[in-house]
Amino acid sequence: MLYAEPIQRLVEELTRLPGVGPKTAQRLAYHLVKAPKEEVEALARALVELRSKIRYCSVCGNLTEADPCRICSSDSRDASVLCVVEQPRDVVAMERTGEFKGRYHVLHGVISPANGVGPADLRIESLLQRVREQKVTEIILALNPNVEGEATSLYLARILKPAGVKVTRIAYGVPVGGDLEYADEVTLSRALEGRREL
Ligand SMILES: [Zn+2]
Repeated sequence: MLYAEPIQRLVEELTRLPGVGPKTAQRLAYHLVKAPKEEVEALARALVELRSKIRYCSVCGNLTEADPCRICSSDSRDASVLCVVEQPRDVVAMERTGEFKGRYHVLHGVISPANGVGPADLRIESLLQRVREQKVTEIILALNPNVEGEATSLYLARILKPAGVKVTRIAYGVPVGGDLEYADEVTLSRALEGRREL
């Protein structure tokens, strides 16, 4: 064994995280050994609370502490406009622009035959249900500009239009293949303004 057992265990756990290789894990572990006890305990508590307190909003599918989430339960957010995104982190990207005043619907993925993901694996049925049951007038598709995002947008437009709802798609200033979460606020605001009907 390279390290004392507790260090070894932490290094192993850290290495499971995305973007953390053995060297980074080692650096973090040694940092934590030297850090004040309270800081390390606060980190441990934050990790435990993350899993025990965070859940998915039963309405929009975003991550939340309270169900329904803050956005779904806010009277100041326009319930007639829904922005459809792939992941909870995309909601954060859109919220950062401060431009969007409607509500969200998180699909939790995109249609991807290569990865065995079909429409039934995504939160599409609940989207149709919201359109049917609430007074939704516009659906803004804000999926990532890649082949799968494209295919999913077209699929959604096809099944949503018969429900009599306007379906638009955000314009992209970001290069095709880029991720929504990496687009800056200004780019994303313009993309929202420049949305086009599908
Ligand atoms: Zn919600």
